[in-house]
Amino acid sequence: MSIYNKYEAVIGLEIHIQLLTKSKMYSSDSAEYGGLPNTHVSVTSLGHPGTLPMVNKQAIEFAVKLGLAVHATIRYENQFARKNYFYADLPKGYQITQDKTPICNGGYITIKQKDGTEKNINITRIHMEEDAGKSLHDQDVYDTLVDLNRAGVPLLEMVSEPEIKNGEEAYAYLTEVRKLVRYLDICDGNMEEGSMRCDANVSVRLKGATEFGKKVEVKNMNSIRNVQRAIDYEFTRQIDLIEAGENIAGETRSFDAVKGSTFSLRSKENANDYRYFPEPDLQPVYVTEACINEVRKQLPELPNHLYKRYIRDFKLSDYDAGVITDTKAIAHYFNELTSHTDNYKAAANWLMVNIKGFLNENALDIERFPVKPKQIADLIAVIDEGKISHSVASQKVFPHLIKEPQKSALQIAQELNLIQESSADALQDWINQALAKYPEKITEYKGGKKNLVGLFMGEVMKLSGGKADPKTASKLVQETLDKK
Ligand code: ADP
Ligand code: MG
Repeated sequence: MSIYNKYEAVIGLEIHIQLLTKSKMYSSDSAEYGGLPNTHVSVTSLGHPGTLPMVNKQAIEFAVKLGLAVHATIRYENQFARKNYFYADLPKGYQITQDKTPICNGGYITIKQKDGTEKNINITRIHMEEDAGKSLHDQDVYDTLVDLNRAGVPLLEMVSEPEIKNGEEAYAYLTEVRKLVRYLDICDGNMEEGSMRCDANVSVRLKGATEFGKKVEVKNMNSIRNVQRAIDYEFTRQIDLIEAGENIAGETRSFDAVKGSTFSLRSKENANDYRYFPEPDLQPVYVTEACINEVRKQLPELPNHLYKRYIRDFKLSDYDAGVITDTKAIAHYFNELTSHTDNYKAAANWLMVNIKGFLNENALDIERFPVKPKQIADLIAVIDEGKISHSVASQKVFPHLIKEPQKSALQIAQELNLIQESSADALQDWINQALAKYPEKITEYKGGKKNLVGLFMGEVMKLSGGKADPKTASKLVQETLDKK
């Protein structure tokens, strides 16, 4: 047995969620991403003495929104606190955050495990705070440059209980959180650009042990995948140390994505004392029941709920329901599509195969897809009515529909002369011709070679230019042969 099997990991994640507000957390400066350096900075962002902070109402609503979505308890009286530390990208010398009174407590995120069962990861708290500026070390040969556009941008910090067991669960947890903040329209969830950031607290212990091991905090993972890699690396690194008889140092480490390893940034032994105290320049903010109800009304149907509803009511597979609820825009399209058709399975297939295929090939979002859900529902109806085959629909009508989205599926099928012939008269004509061509095969059929129906059907399809409705035609071919 490998030594690693004797141990288990204990993991808690701290996620920073950058909010999509127009202005900053405590000032009216623009919170928009990507402006020229130091253009979104008034005296407040620059931390000039005597300036006063003001709380961003939208940020509070976003915090409540996330809190409700994760079933947390929302706090009524919210106090802000100063967290003091010195850093070049922090002009005030402190960050305004929440200490003893986070806006949300409790709640959970549901993840799906490998075996298909669900697990709830409990959330300790969600609090509001502001971001720091950004130090740029690679823009100038000699100096570090500081961009303060980000200083003061609103953040929610969401802290999980140490209930995550491995890198895979961390991956699933982060994927759910990202999906959720995107559904809620409170954050773009982009880890590559840093608008969602995750610190992973990792410790290991012998299986069955009741006490936690010493934890290490890992930072600087710029993708969900890299969080998983960093955790997997830490798991073996820490076990190797313990097995070698060494102690785990309480420290902050950074992840090197190229090497796939972590390295020490700083020890926690001489950690800062932030000397938190209540922010004297801000009154407490009171979140009333009325405000909470107002926000609750704006909540969209959440991905997990949609996922279960699609499986229960539409009989979709786990996989299909997962793909369709992956983004709100896709789910929204599907909702509208299924309001126009009862053929849910076909609706899911058209969305996942044809539409997503087209979007991927053209690097488009579904918002830019020109064909309305109603038209796709009509296309499905045209197929279900036997007027065109599925392959003709996807190879000929669908591409045409994208080019001329103002037309209906039926209109296009008619214009392209693709409507299947299912009238017995027309079909009988082609069948008679097909049979006349191979008199000796009729004898063979009569002698027992029943699979010759295929040969005659092929001929019928050829004569009809592909328009013969195959179901009706094959029935008629057999009937005609049996009468001979
Ligand atoms: P700190 O004061 O060092 O920031 P916290 O108690 O605030 O520590 O916890 C930070 C995060 O670390 C939380 O997500 C928590 O679940 C997690 N955590 C706490 N103890 C451990 C541990 N022994 N191993 C792994 N994660 C832990
Ligand atoms: Mg912490």
